[in-house]
Amino acid sequence: MPSYKAPTEDFQFLFHELLEIDKRDDLPGFADLTPDMTSAIMEGGAKFCEEVLQPLNQIGDEEGCTLENGVVRTPTGFKEAFEQYCEGGWNRLGAPEQYGGAGLPAVITFAFSEMGSSSNHALTMYPGLTGAAYSALAATGDDWMKQHVVPKMVAGVWTGTMCLTEPHCGTDLKLMKTKAVEQPDGTYRMTGTKIFISGGDHDMTDNIIHMVIAKIPDEDGKLHDDLGTVNFFMVPKFIVDPETGERKERNGVSVGAVEKKMGIKGNATCVLNFDDAVAYRLGPKPQPKSAEGGKAGGKKGKSKSSGMAGMFGMMNGARMGVGIQGIAVGEVAVQNGAAYALDRTAGRALTGAKNPGDSADPIIVHPDVRRMLLQSRAFVEGARALALWVSMLFTVQVHGKDEAEREQAGDLSQLLTPVIKGYFTDKGFEAANAAMQVLGGHGYIREHGMEQFVRDARINQVYEGANGVQALDLVARKMTSKGGRATLTYFAMLEAFIKANEADANMKPYIEPLKTGYARLGEAAGWLSENAPQDFNNAGAASYEMLNMFGVVSLAWMWARMAKIAMAKLEAGEGNPDFYKRKLTLAKYWMEREIPNTAAYLERAKAGAGTLMELDEEAFVA
Ligand SMILES: Cc1cc2nc3c(=O)[nH]c(=O)nc-3n(C[C@H](O)[C@H](O)[C@H](O)COP(=O)(O)OP(=O)(O)OC[C@H]3O[C@@H](n4cnc5c(N)ncnc54)[C@H](O)[C@@H]3O)c2cc1C
Repeated sequence: MPSYKAPTEDFQFLFHELLEIDKRDDLPGFADLTPDMTSAIMEGGAKFCEEVLQPLNQIGDEEGCTLENGVVRTPTGFKEAFEQYCEGGWNRLGAPEQYGGAGLPAVITFAFSEMGSSSNHALTMYPGLTGAAYSALAATGDDWMKQHVVPKMVAGVWTGTMCLTEPHCGTDLKLMKTKAVEQPDGTYRMTGTKIFISGGDHDMTDNIIHMVIAKIPDEDGKLHDDLGTVNFFMVPKFIVDPETGERKERNGVSVGAVEKKMGIKGNATCVLNFDDAVAYRLGPKPQPKSAEGGKAGGKKGKSKSSGMAGMFGMMNGARMGVGIQGIAVGEVAVQNGAAYALDRTAGRALTGAKNPGDSADPIIVHPDVRRMLLQSRAFVEGARALALWVSMLFTVQVHGKDEAEREQAGDLSQLLTPVIKGYFTDKGFEAANAAMQVLGGHGYIREHGMEQFVRDARINQVYEGANGVQALDLVARKMTSKGGRATLTYFAMLEAFIKANEADANMKPYIEPLKTGYARLGEAAGWLSENAPQDFNNAGAASYEMLNMFGVVSLAWMWARMAKIAMAKLEAGEGNPDFYKRKLTLAKYWMEREIPNTAAYLERAKAGAGTLMELDEEAFVA
């Protein structure tokens, strides 16, 4: 059976040595985040994750979720663990205090979510999506929803979902068919089918608040393939009394099926049918009817999607959350792979027996086993550093000292969100796969839990926008918007760091490779800006390589920053020397073994779209 030990020492290092969060007293609440305070939060969270969530992980996988008489049953122990989750306040660490939350910043909540996901990916999705849903509702809902619905979701009395996907569209949501028709009382009636809805139904709470996107038809009742007609709604499973907040009769939302799937089996992935369900439109209300009786804003029902900003906010936070799931699965998988490698004996060290008294050495002596573990480890710890740095930007973009700082933080967080979602989930999957390989044939056997990590990790590359779409978002939107402002800002930060450290001989093993990787990233960006405008397929063809280059170089930057701190601490004789020496080795690993990949990514990016687009479509099935 696999085990999990939360990486609390690493979190403390990142909070207080890399990010120095308690020195950011210009940000609300940060001065309170002393090492003692963050240690108390993280140790408490770690205990809960290790002792309550993790032991249910394999049970959730074995039992899965079932649909019985229209009600979804979650695996044994999930309901009780969810109750403990909420009693402990772990579901509301980041929720505003006015709704009953702890109001902690994203840097803490994302760190906790990593531990939760490492322990039990499937279970933590219920409170995770509820958090995304109540944040969106708090941002876009009416006063009665903020008064009666949001606090119940924050308390974990009710959960929430995010309903976007339909049978014929997941990426291209303008094709959706779910419609919401306005009623004389200002509510809407929703009809349609949403699929793949995580936590779409369950037996853990007595109501579920669905956050749904749907189209408003034009005055002739027609739907248009236009995102401008898509709006954001709240649709409760049971109607909520706006006056008292009491749960009333069942709404027209039912579960059509619970999907049987590859992983995260403890999370109910549901088909939800909306049959004339009562829906509440979110965000600013549409213009009142004009004197002529027509609706202001035109015949086609294309009034700019009110509340959609709330939905995009929800999706951005969720993308970051999924990227962190990539780190989380890498962490728990490599922990178990490493434990096995210390114990399992096979063969002899190539340079002579390490354990001459035994008939074989532990497999950790083999360079190739070490490669698999170090690759995963260096990814996990570099990615964790970048994720927490970006989560600081989430706070700064709202509370930064002036407009310039807020704008810069917003630009950078937007630029790096698709990198975190796409690159981290690809590498998290590879890390889980490599850790499974360390167990040889035993990794393939369910009892060890490694194959579950691989199966669970796989969905991260798909949901919240498939990774290919993240790559396209990076090159086609995030890198280029506002004249490429975010890209230029980010590149200037990398350059400034390189410049400030290149004269330091001790930093050479880290700065030189970073410089090389950064130069290649810049060259690829330059190639794109020259070649994409003439043929947009060049942008699509290079997008995945760009995503990877951004990922490798960004982690190299993090590793160089961490190496600098580690060397200073070792020099000063402060802290745990083993911890810092280990960081230096991991930093060197990333520079030696990942930076060279940027040469290949660059070549592939520059190959352009020609060959990819050469074959006739039919030739692909020949
Ligand atoms: C277990 C699970 C849980 C989920 N949970 C939720 C949930 O809670 N709520 C929700 O709304 N949805 C959920 N989803 C749906 C998920 O977000 C979608 O499956 C995903 O966004 C991809 O959409 P799709 O399946 O329709 O694929 P498609 O959109 O059909 O894409 C198929 C392939 O084409 C590629 N592609 C599509 N368009 C482009 C393009 N323009 N350029 C380049 N490549 C492109 C994609 O990258 C992908 O590889 C879940 C899915 C699963 C399996």
